[in-house]
Amino acid sequence: MKGVSTDSVEGENVTLEDLKQKMAEFAKERNWDQFHSPRNLLLALVGEVGELSEIFQWKGEVPKGLPDWKDEEKEHLGEELSDVLLYLVRLSDICGVDLGKAALRKVELNAIKYPVKQCKGSSRKYNHLIKNNSSESS
Ligand SMILES: [Mg+2]
Repeated sequence: MKGVSTDSVEGENVTLEDLKQKMAEFAKERNWDQFHSPRNLLLALVGEVGELSEIFQWKGEVPKGLPDWKDEEKEHLGEELSDVLLYLVRLSDICGVDLGKAALRKVELNAIKYPVKQCKGSSRKYNHLIKNNSSESS
């Protein structure tokens, strides 16, 4: 969706619900609902993840904030990140999943899976965390 102007106000807080509605309108106006099956949307999402990956491909590690990147490169990055987000939002909608609720629940589940005491400063996966059996309370 490169070069497309939108009627949204720049800088305004955008919600997942806003994006969901915009994507639904976008598809409806073009009679694309017929193509937006869960499988098709998933494959489109994976394709966009590939396009996002291409931006970083062969660059090695890059510093946070991408200070050495040109404006055009950052703009392109924003476009591909958006493509991924928009397909993810659309896929969730078509599957009847409330993505905001599901994501918040997942953060809570991850907090249980990765207790601060056991994983602070560690990149170990949850099943490799060292169990802390001490009875100290916090
Ligand atoms: Mg793209």
